[in-house]
Amino acid sequence: MQDIRWGTFWFFIFEIILFLIISNMYSIEDALIICLCLMSCFLLLHMFWIYKLSKWLNNPSLSNLPHGTGIWQHIFSKHYQILKESKKSKKNLVSTLDQFTQAAEALMDGVVALNESNEIIWSNRRSQIMLNLNSKKDTGQPINYIFRNTDLISYLEKGNYEESIKINLDTSNTKIIEIKIVMFGEKQKVLIAKDISQAMKIESDRKEFISNVSHELKTPLTVISGFIETLEDMFTNTGKEHKNILKMMGDQAYNMSKLIDDLLLLSNVESSLFQNRSEKLTIDTIINKIKKDILILNVKKHKVKYQVSKNLNIYGSKKEIKSAFLNLITNAIRYTNNNGSIFISWGLINGLPIFEVRDTGSGIEQKHINRITERFYRVDVDRSRDSGGTGLGLSIVKNIIKQHDGELKITSEVGKGSSFKLIFNKESIT
Ligand code: ADP
Repeated sequence: MQDIRWGTFWFFIFEIILFLIISNMYSIEDALIICLCLMSCFLLLHMFWIYKLSKWLNNPSLSNLPHGTGIWQHIFSKHYQILKESKKSKKNLVSTLDQFTQAAEALMDGVVALNESNEIIWSNRRSQIMLNLNSKKDTGQPINYIFRNTDLISYLEKGNYEESIKINLDTSNTKIIEIKIVMFGEKQKVLIAKDISQAMKIESDRKEFISNVSHELKTPLTVISGFIETLEDMFTNTGKEHKNILKMMGDQAYNMSKLIDDLLLLSNVESSLFQNRSEKLTIDTIINKIKKDILILNVKKHKVKYQVSKNLNIYGSKKEIKSAFLNLITNAIRYTNNNGSIFISWGLINGLPIFEVRDTGSGIEQKHINRITERFYRVDVDRSRDSGGTGLGLSIVKNIIKQHDGELKITSEVGKGSSFKLIFNKESIT
């Protein structure tokens, strides 16, 4: 720019001097005519290069860039450099994109990039096989038009992508994929599809094995327990030692049978088959029944208070819901010392039906809270066993609430007590 200004400045100085010289030598009119002619030539020259530049801009390429003269030479060489730079960065971008595409193609998971309206921007080969997509025909189409699945549609509509969903691709449950959506950029999404058929098969075989073993153990154990009872009756008049041994045998057999019952319950809860979870439940009646059951349990004489919304009922499995409630209440009784308080409530909080068991018991350290719902995870193994625990109670509760599309929320403070909430969703209200 500086050059243009200087060029124009010197041109005008030159014009003035020329004007003065010619007007002195000839006449003012002659000087004016010559200066005007020169100025027109100057303008025409610039018009010519502007025309050349605009023509070149229609089809910019390094080979047909004009050379220019004077300041225009400088302008054209700048254009040359910019074009060269942009070609280089374009080449780099293309090679990075190529590498990314190759990496995405090499993935074992299906990857589909979606825009804000869930239209397919790009998909890798694996996703095309899994979701039956056609890379050419389906790009630009909304994914739910191409891959018609009600679970995927509601997952996309909900917009909560914290958790993944599992989708059965055939009726015999042999082809299962896990779909997870990750947000990127401005409202764009990456859909990741993983084939989990094999893992699900192993998991279901494992559950079936546990269920079969538990079934097989149940009958011999019932026979053994029966014999222990008979032996106890037979040895009523024998020494204390014999009695103690028989009592210990009886207790252990009872614990084993409880463990088997819990294992069977857990395996039933985990399988969504053959379960009717749409019974119309009257929660008030279920809680009243539990009230009677726990009167026998509450030997420590805790203060137990109830606050139950009578007209709030939900859909679910009666057997499972009762078992979940009872598990939480018996835990509160077992982990709260004599004269402690237990508060049981059922009601709507922020529009959601919530069952809560709060106690003033031992409490649970924060580091254990995330793990206590794992199978056989106990904070204090001895205390759990001594109080008749199997280590499966909370795992059963968590599975039950999960099968009812709700969640288990645990809060606790060591020495002060704990709160276990079963939060059901709005849709479950009858
Ligand atoms: P368990 O049969 O051992 O009670 P659970 O799965 O029911 O098995 O509970 C897991 C662990 O969580 C227990 O061992 C106990 O340490 C802890 N826990 C459960 N409920 C309570 C409670 N109300 N207060 C304190 N700790 C609890």
